[in-house]
Amino acid sequence: MDKKLDKQVAVITGASSGIGAGCAKAFAEAGATVIVNYPRASSKPKADIIVNDIVSNGGKAAGYQCDVSKEDEVVKMFAEVVKQFGTVDILINNAGLQKDGKFTEMSLDDWNFVISVNLTGQFLCAREAIKEFLRRGDNGKSKSIGKIICMSSVHEVIPWAGHANYAASKGGIMLLMKSIAQEFAPNKIRINSIAPGAVKTPINEDAWDTKQDREKLLELIPYNRIGVPEDIAKAAVWLASDDAEYITGTTLFVDGGMTLYPGFVDNG
Ligand code: NAD
Repeated sequence: MDKKLDKQVAVITGASSGIGAGCAKAFAEAGATVIVNYPRASSKPKADIIVNDIVSNGGKAAGYQCDVSKEDEVVKMFAEVVKQFGTVDILINNAGLQKDGKFTEMSLDDWNFVISVNLTGQFLCAREAIKEFLRRGDNGKSKSIGKIICMSSVHEVIPWAGHANYAASKGGIMLLMKSIAQEFAPNKIRINSIAPGAVKTPINEDAWDTKQDREKLLELIPYNRIGVPEDIAKAAVWLASDDAEYITGTTLFVDGGMTLYPGFVDNG
C-alpha cells in the first residue's frame, strides 16, 4: 500500500476488534504509528493480537487501555501518547456499543451507558486531540495539522426503533462533528465522519450469524453484500490522507446503498 500516512501517529479507539482493528491494520500499512486503544484489561489479549500482527508485518503499533467515557483516562491517554510518540496526528473516534431495548422499558442506565461511550467518548477524545493539534501546529507531515474521523452509522439519519439510545448517539455525533469541523477548519484541522452500513463485526452478530438473518439483512443492502471492516478501513485511510485535503465537515456513507431507501425500489 502507498504510504499515505507515513510517520503520522494515529490513535484508534476501540481497536481490539471489528472496524477499529481493521482500521489499525490499514493505517499501519499506510505508514502510521498506530495506538490500539481498548477499554479494559479483559480486552488486552485481543489488542495484543492486533499489535503483534501489525509489528510482525513491519508496522508500528502499541496498545493502550483507556475507557473513552472516562475523562481522566482520556486525558491521561493523550498525554502519555504525546510523551511517548511525540504527538497525535490522527484520531479515529471509533469506540462504540449498543444496549438495545423497547423505549418504554429502557432504563436511564442503559441510555447513559450508550451515550457516554458513543457520544461523550467522542467529545472527550476529539477535545484532547484538537488541543494537541493546536499545541503542535504544522509538523510538515500532512497538509492539515490534524485529522479526526468519527465513526458514525447510517443511524445518524435512519431512525431505529428499539435502539433509541444508539440512534440518538449517532445523530449527536453528526452535529458534534459538523460543529467542531466548522470551529477548527481555519486552523487546518479536518473533521469528518464515516457512516458504515451493516459491517460484519461482533457488534451486530445477531444480524448476520444465521443464513436467515443474512438474507433478511441483504434486503436492506442494494449492493447485495454485507460489509467487512476493510471496506471502512480503506475509506478511513483515504479520508485521513492528503488526497482528501479539501474535505471537512462531511459524512461519508460506506453502506452498499443502505441509505437509498431500498424499500421504495418496487413499492413507491
Ligand atoms: P465492535 O464491537 O467490534 O467494536 C467496538 C469496539 O469499541 C470494541 O473493540 C470495544 O471494546 C470498544 N469499546 C467499547 N466501549 C469502549 C470504551 N468505553 N472505551 C474504549 N473502547 C470501547 O463493533 P464495530 O462494528 O467494529 O464497531 C465500531 C464502530 O462502528 C462503533 O462506533 C459502531 O457503532 C460503528 N458502526 C458499526 C456498524 C456495523 O455494522 N458493524 C455499523 C455502523 C456503525
